[in-house]
Amino acid sequence: MIDVAVVGAGISGLSVALRLQKAGVNVKVFEKEEKVGGNIQTEEIEGFLCELGPQTILADKKVEEFLSLAGIKPLYAKEEAKIRYIYKKGKLVPLPMSPLSFLTSPLLSLSAKLRVLKEPFIPKSIKKEESIAEFVKRRLGQEFLDYIVEPFVSGVYAGDVNKLSVKYAVRRVYELEQRFGSLIKGAIKLKALGPGGRLISFEGGNHTLPSHLAKALDVDVENVVLKIRRKDDHFVIDSRKGKFSARAVVISAPATSAGYLLRELSWSAAQEFDSIYYAPVVVVHAHTRDSIPPGFGFLVPRKEGKRILGVLFSSNIFEGRKGNLLTIYLGGATDPQVVEEDDDLISATVEKELKEILGVDVNILKITKWKKAIPQYNLGYGKFYELAETLEKEHPGLFLTGNYLKGVSVADCIRNSEDLANRVLEFL
Ligand SMILES: Cc1cc2nc3c(=O)[nH]c(=O)nc-3n(C[C@H](O)[C@H](O)[C@H](O)COP(=O)(O)OP(=O)(O)OC[C@H]3O[C@@H](n4cnc5c(N)ncnc54)[C@H](O)[C@@H]3O)c2cc1C
Repeated sequence: MIDVAVVGAGISGLSVALRLQKAGVNVKVFEKEEKVGGNIQTEEIEGFLCELGPQTILADKKVEEFLSLAGIKPLYAKEEAKIRYIYKKGKLVPLPMSPLSFLTSPLLSLSAKLRVLKEPFIPKSIKKEESIAEFVKRRLGQEFLDYIVEPFVSGVYAGDVNKLSVKYAVRRVYELEQRFGSLIKGAIKLKALGPGGRLISFEGGNHTLPSHLAKALDVDVENVVLKIRRKDDHFVIDSRKGKFSARAVVISAPATSAGYLLRELSWSAAQEFDSIYYAPVVVVHAHTRDSIPPGFGFLVPRKEGKRILGVLFSSNIFEGRKGNLLTIYLGGATDPQVVEEDDDLISATVEKELKEILGVDVNILKITKWKKAIPQYNLGYGKFYELAETLEKEHPGLFLTGNYLKGVSVADCIRNSEDLANRVLEFL
């Protein structure tokens, strides 16, 4: 009898497993793939360190605490990674980083800047739920939405601002309006608008993190879990390699798999979770011999009519990385068909648009297609949170986690593991 079975060796599953093991619990992690890490995958190609999934992790105090619990040292991003650009009318415009640079930046017109200054006087919405587009247009105006928020949302969610729920996708921003009546007033009072923290990766790339965590744990790779059922006071885990019994189960697999595994406990949960939309993303790694600008990279507002969502100047971000590596993102909820296109067409699109935007010629190293990349916290998403809570209540000892609940970033997944581990310990 295992104390806790964790299904999925992505960052959500591994981080909760590590916390439980440190608390003296007997944990076994089941992973269907040959490699751990889930979305976090790094490959070295011709000496270039290519991140196929997440590029950087925004580490706050909680994440740093977890890394020191795990005994792994992060690699901090270089100072120049603070420089970011937005592509506008044929040029890369630096993203303003202070109120003064915002006022002098060519990114927004004078009337758009004046519209932003009205924000503290705009009343709260009386609508139950708003999309990010509705919320930002109401508080900050159309141009702010088009040239600042929409590209940022592409960068995090590869999402559609008309569909994402402000309450669930950018909860922090939503709460600023709820608490302070204004984003500007709230940001001044809290001395911050964003979540804060430092950008990190690891020696050898991001996959160093899950492989380090897995070394300390009992991870059964290439062992897909097929079904989870209840038997008396414990759970039976049917896996490819056989049956296991556990007092508690943490399912950290993506929503569709989680729903499927629970089909004997709740048929409706299986169907509901399967309906969560994950936007597809195509990640292209390319090398150029031409020079690239300093900084982190740039985002492309949808209004600019390009297919590229954004480009990271990957070799600029951390010390010691082989240079001029570009990571290009396409697809997302607004252009999902890219993932179905063949590699030659994708290469041609990337080569053409990079020539237009950066004036560089590139040699494509790798194309990675994520058919289900990022869960979209769209309008009405609250029902999935409620369903997860109900399932946990109805089946004591069952716990659900993963990037489709409470945040899509790696940092969110790590932070969420603290509360989850505490709840599991309380149950045990
Ligand atoms: C292209 C891309 C770029 C991203 N960029 C960033 C970024 O720059 N910064 C950032 O913070 N975040 C980024 N993210 C988001 C972040 O990587 C993910 O949200 C996070 O890694 C998800 O972790 P997870 O453990 O919740 O899920 P996953 O990584 O999906 O892990 C779930 C695991 O469960 C396993 N599994 C599924 N079913 C079963 C089963 N039945 N039995 C056993 N195992 C099973 C899977 O094989 C997988 O290993 C990006 C994501 C993508 C796809």
